[in-house]
Formats: sequence, structure tokens, C-alpha cells
Amino acid sequence: DTSLVWFRRDLRVFDHAALHHALKSSKAVFCVFVFDTEILQPLLDAGLSADRRVEFIHASIVELDLELRKFGGGLIVRHGVAADIIPALVQQLGATAVFSNHDYEPQARQRDDSVANKLAAAGCAWRSFKDQVIFECDEILTLASRPFSVFTPYKNAWMRRLAAADGPFFLKPYPIEKYAENLAPPISATDDNIPSLRQLGFEKTNLRTLKITPGMRGAASLLEDFLLRIGQYEEARNFPAIKGPSYLSIHLRFGTISIRTLARTAYQMLHQGTAASGAATWLSELIWRDFYFMILYHHPHVAQHAFKPDYDAIQWESGAHAQLLFQAWCDGRTGYPLVDAAMLQLNQSGYMHNRLRMVAASFLIKDLGIDWRWGERYFAAHLNDFDLAANNGGWQWAASSGCDAQPYFRIFNPITQSEKFDEDGKFIRRYLPQLAALGNKHIHAPWLAPAQDLQNAGIRLGENYPLPLVQHDDARKLTLQRYAVVKKIA
Ligand code: FAD
Repeated sequence: DTSLVWFRRDLRVFDHAALHHALKSSKAVFCVFVFDTEILQPLLDAGLSADRRVEFIHASIVELDLELRKFGGGLIVRHGVAADIIPALVQQLGATAVFSNHDYEPQARQRDDSVANKLAAAGCAWRSFKDQVIFECDEILTLASRPFSVFTPYKNAWMRRLAAADGPFFLKPYPIEKYAENLAPPISATDDNIPSLRQLGFEKTNLRTLKITPGMRGAASLLEDFLLRIGQYEEARNFPAIKGPSYLSIHLRFGTISIRTLARTAYQMLHQGTAASGAATWLSELIWRDFYFMILYHHPHVAQHAFKPDYDAIQWESGAHAQLLFQAWCDGRTGYPLVDAAMLQLNQSGYMHNRLRMVAASFLIKDLGIDWRWGERYFAAHLNDFDLAANNGGWQWAASSGCDAQPYFRIFNPITQSEKFDEDGKFIRRYLPQLAALGNKHIHAPWLAPAQDLQNAGIRLGENYPLPLVQHDDARKLTLQRYAVVKKIA
């Protein structure tokens, strides 16, 4: 019997649930990846033909094909509407089952349901597996069998589940070597060719200059490098100027490394007492990831609305004034150096440090009074690691509208955040060279610097660096008024 494995956000050969199950149960296993025009065309229509994620996927696909070939298989690569291509390919191959991994995003779930229905009508089975998280959907529930909506008790239950007798099962890799002989090479000469980026309508980006290596190879080398530093993670991860985090998010997004590999590594270190505090903190971040996937699964309305419905009543800034504020934030022209440097990091590299995501998001919402959904969309368009679940969770956290959010009256002060987490202005100077000569004392709020200091540093506020868009103290008061509507409802 013949089956087809449909690769999506799981671009690897090793420890791949769907591939493992397909190889175990079929004698001829074909593999396919579809460059889905439903996803890519809107980018092209918006003139966004240089997208780091598309280039990353493309290069990862080339690597995936090569790796599959080493085992006697290969990747069929198509370009078109995936929901049509998969059923057509099934017919062409005479496949009796399609294997894939669960996707939890609302649109992907709709697409998968529609494909599964088409396949069922043609007598082909749809088999889908948990792969991108350790625990999914209903696997971690409260004592009352309800989904959690607060992180800490969820995390405790998650850790307890792993410590249970069958816990190790959840971290076990899915081997393929034993069954690899069941891999089938692509059938026709046309399927032997992977379309070039240009043929897909896209251009090369600065991915290479940024030293982002796609594919399993890139993921493995980042992990190797991070494990040397994991002992310092707990402390170092908060400071954007230093190499603290793993930078693995883009690889987790596209599945060029498995979450089990990462969680198992951290869990073992925690238990063996090697770099235990760093490993524990990092594992906790991986649990946040599971948590937000679970939230999105149970509450798909968060993709458009506040998790807490009362918060949809907040009146955000609107009209031309709001557009102006928003554009200045996007361009890194707010006059608050840490916020601006953060936005420039995003615009130039597609990455933004976690601390800065919190600061920049809070600034947009609580200093500029802009609807968090605008910022969420901007991050979605620009983050290399954009993931609906984590991005939405992060934005709703910052807006205080989500589960486990900051209370609305706790408002980040962009100046003290800057003084605390970029004390000597190293990160700011990296992205805002025009401020480089200003001393550490004033680099966090240049408009408060004495005129002489500004002059000596060659800074002309309003000319080569903007004046602040708002005064934080005033903005804070306005935000408290804006959020009062929620307090009234509550
Ligand atoms: P590390 O510190 O090495 O963490 C390891 C992994 O844990 C990350 O790769 C990620 O998969 C996961 N992780 C870490 N923090 C979180 C978190 N708070 N929530 C969920 N998972 C987490 N992360 C994304 O992967 N995609 C997004 O689109 C995204 N948008 C965000 C938007 C906002 C407003 C905020 C505040 C956070 C967002 N995050 C997002 C979470 C976090 O900022 C990134 O995962 C992290 O910065 C990625 O860098 P890293 O891989 O070096 O992280």
C-alpha cells in the first residue's frame, strides 16, 4: 500500500511523527511539500516579494529533499493551492492514506478539514499526529477537566504530567531509520525539480548576511552553541545587547528541529543538575509555547478578539492621528531610544529580543493608545518566527486583555526598562548610531539631556533624532482612563 506524507511546518527528517507513522505502516511512502499560493499570493499582492521566511522555507526544503534522498526517498515539491493539490496527487499516486502533523491555527484547521473531506470522498484516509508540541489540546487539564487559562498552574500540571510513569513517552523521538527502506523517490521528472525562489515570484533577502542558516543543519548548530551558554540563560536572556537566548524560534516555527529534542535536553539537564537553573527557565519558555497553542486551540476567537471579551470595549486612538503614531512606531521614530532600536532590529533582521517585544508592544498600546491588533499584524508581517499562537498571546499579554496578562494598571515605563536592561546603551547605540556619542546617563531619554551634551554629541532633536511622540506620564494617565471602561464592566 502507498501513502503520502504532507510536510508543512515540520521541515525535517528526524523525529517527525507523521513520517514515522507512515513509514511504519506503508510499504511505499511518498513525501510532498506544497508552496501554497493561498499563503504566498497575498504577500505578492502586497508587494512583499522579499520575505525572509519564504527564503528560509525554500532553503530548508532543498535540504529536506537531499536528506530524504540519502534514505532512498525524495521530496515532491508543488506550487499551487494545497487543498486541491493534495487530493489530486493522492489520485495520481494511488495513495490510500495521507499522513500529516496537527496544525492548531484556525485557518489551517479549516484547510485540513476540507482536505480530509475530499480525501474521504475518494476513499483515502487522513491521518494526523501531534508533533509540534509536547502536550496538546486536552492533554493538560485542570482538576475539573477544563482547559487552563493561567500559566503557572498549567506549567505545574505540565511538569507533573511529565514526571508521571508514562511521562518519558512524551519526550521520546520518532525514529525513521528502521523503516527508511519504505521511502519512495518522486515519480516523475517534473517532480524532481524544486522551483527556484524566483519561479515562486520571490527574491533573495538578507538572510545570509544575517547569518541565519536554514534547515536542520542551522537548527543543530544553534542548539549546540546555546547549550554552551544555557547555564547563563536565566540572567542573560533579559539583556538585548548580549547573546542570551537560543535564537531557535524560527526553527521551531518551521520545524527544522523537533520540540521533543529541545524539551528532552532541557528536562535531562534539569534532572541531572547540569546548568539546572538555566535549563529550568528555558524549559519554562518552551512550556509557554505549548500553553499558547493550547489557548488558541480552545479559544480560536483570540485571533480576532480579546481573550477577555470585556476588553473589546476599549476605545483606541483612531483616524489620521492614530495612523501617524502607528507609522512612527513601525519606523522606529517614537523618540524613545529603546523602543526605536527594538523596531529597527525587527525591520532590519526579522528578529526582536523577547524583552524588547514586551517593551515595544506595551509602548504601542499603553503609551500611544493604539489597538494591540495593529501591532500584532505588524509583528506577524515582519517576524521571522511569526507564530499566530505565541504572537497573539504576547500581544494580549501586553494589552492585559489575555489570559495571565499583566494587570492593566501595570504599565511598563520605557525609560526605566531601558536603564535596567540596556544600562550602558550598547543595544541602543547598535541600532541608533546618531545617538552613539551621548553619555549613558542620557541615552535612554535624550530630550532630558542638557543642550550642551546634545550639541557635543552632534544630536539635533527633531532633526537627526525625533523628539518624543508622547510624554510617558501623561500617556499613562490617559491609558488608565481608557482602561477604566473595563474596570466598570468588571
Ligand atoms: P528563547 O529564549 O531561546 O526561548 C526558546 C523558545 O521558547 C523560543 O524559541 C519560543 O519557541 C519559546 N518561547 C519563548 N518565550 C515564549 C513566549 N513568551 N511565548 C511563547 N513561546 C515562547 N514567539 C514566537 O515564537 N513567535 C512569535 O510570533 C512571537 N511573538 C511575540 C510577540 C510579543 C508581543 C511577545 C511579548 C512575545 C512573542 N514571542 C513570539 C515570544 C518570544 O519573544 C520569542 O519566542 C523569543 O523571543 C524567540 O527567541 P529565542 O528563540 O531566542 O527564545
